[in-house]
Amino acid sequence: MLNQLPLSRLSGIRFPAIADGHGAMQLALQYQLEASQWWSPERLQGHQFEQLRALLGHAAATVPYYRRLFGEHGLQIPERIDAEFFRQIPISTRQAIQQAEQAIESGALPPEHGAMEFGKTSGSTGRAVRFARTAVTRTFWLAFALRDHLWHGRDFAGKLGAIRWYSRGVAEAPGGASEPNWGVIVAPLFATGPSCSLNVAATLAQQLDWLRREQPDYLVSFPSNLVALAGYAQAQGVELPGVREIRTIGETLGQTQRRQIEAAWQTKVVDIYTCEEAGYLALQCPVSGEYHVQAENVILEIVDEQGVPCPPGKIGQVLITSLHNFATPLIRYEVGDMAEFGEACGCGRGLPVIRRIHGRKRNRLQLPSGESLFPYLGEHGDIARATGVKVHQFQCVQHSLEEVELKLVLERPLDAAEQAAVSALMQRNLGHPFRVRFSFPAEIPRGPSGKYEDFVSLISG
Ligand SMILES: [Zn+2]
Repeated sequence: MLNQLPLSRLSGIRFPAIADGHGAMQLALQYQLEASQWWSPERLQGHQFEQLRALLGHAAATVPYYRRLFGEHGLQIPERIDAEFFRQIPISTRQAIQQAEQAIESGALPPEHGAMEFGKTSGSTGRAVRFARTAVTRTFWLAFALRDHLWHGRDFAGKLGAIRWYSRGVAEAPGGASEPNWGVIVAPLFATGPSCSLNVAATLAQQLDWLRREQPDYLVSFPSNLVALAGYAQAQGVELPGVREIRTIGETLGQTQRRQIEAAWQTKVVDIYTCEEAGYLALQCPVSGEYHVQAENVILEIVDEQGVPCPPGKIGQVLITSLHNFATPLIRYEVGDMAEFGEACGCGRGLPVIRRIHGRKRNRLQLPSGESLFPYLGEHGDIARATGVKVHQFQCVQHSLEEVELKLVLERPLDAAEQAAVSALMQRNLGHPFRVRFSFPAEIPRGPSGKYEDFVSLISG
């Protein structure tokens, strides 16, 4: 499991290492995860249900939304949970969780789980879903992120590079930002090489210059951005700087995209499947390349429109039950992706296999200059701050090289002055003086992938 020795935090002791409290806890989790990945699916499910029993008891006692839901359906939590009982728990749609607002919060979070820290799905468009993180959910997030590094045998001495979303002003081109180590996931436990990051709002030319200068060993970015970068390098007739591995995050990686990225960089691509609300859902198998559900973190179901479990090979809605979030429990929550299970993996791990995920795809913003950009749509709450009007849903549609449409689901339509303020905001965010047209529909439907899309281009693929 470990290619290198952890850092020892005790003076004079180098080998075997004695980690500090945080390091020891993370290593203890890896020790268990190393074993549990090989358990049979039945044994894994037994332990999931044991953990679920604790979560359900807590939710029924302290979370108003679940107290009401279980009450309405006459659900009594049994001593032992089995699959039959689990499936009697009603599915919670994104909309139901959104409408629940504070009723999804526990009124009595165990103090040792730490303080609640609120995130909001930036599903930006999406109606925001309110969910909290705690010290416990953070601990598990770090553990599964580290498992991904260990599974894929990454050399921590190498240089890590990331081109991803940051707020305006952070890691901006041309220089980006640099750190002496790999950050919170790895650096507290292992000696690492440096890392560098660049805001994905950079143009493709700036990204390529940055890659040439920084020469990272490992590169992390969004599939849509990597495909655009590969196409740009090809069009310019220039070679992409070599990397040891590319890691994709944040969007669904399609088969065609994977092939394009692999061909352009002549290296393997490793994808992860996460969601903001529950962290790591699946990691790519280091042997077969299939996706293994992180069953120690989440119960992941795939169901058809009637809520019936889909057999391997049949596409359905993904439901997740996040096993350790006691602050805002998510139980049989429809996360908004479609996926299909695969057959057991040849590697011998008992962790369930997902063959394909159909989730978020992202279009790029096309500029009249012929360049394309990762669309920067601002931060959650920008429009509300500019106008004082609460935004329920948001979508930006590019109709032409001159015009974008803002679809806003609001408490009330914006007046002319408010529209002018939001137009100026969007022009700043998009980095080009597009004509901004407004529409105020009652609802914005999901895109073809099943996700709410915050940016749609009608002129790019
Ligand atoms: Zn496998």
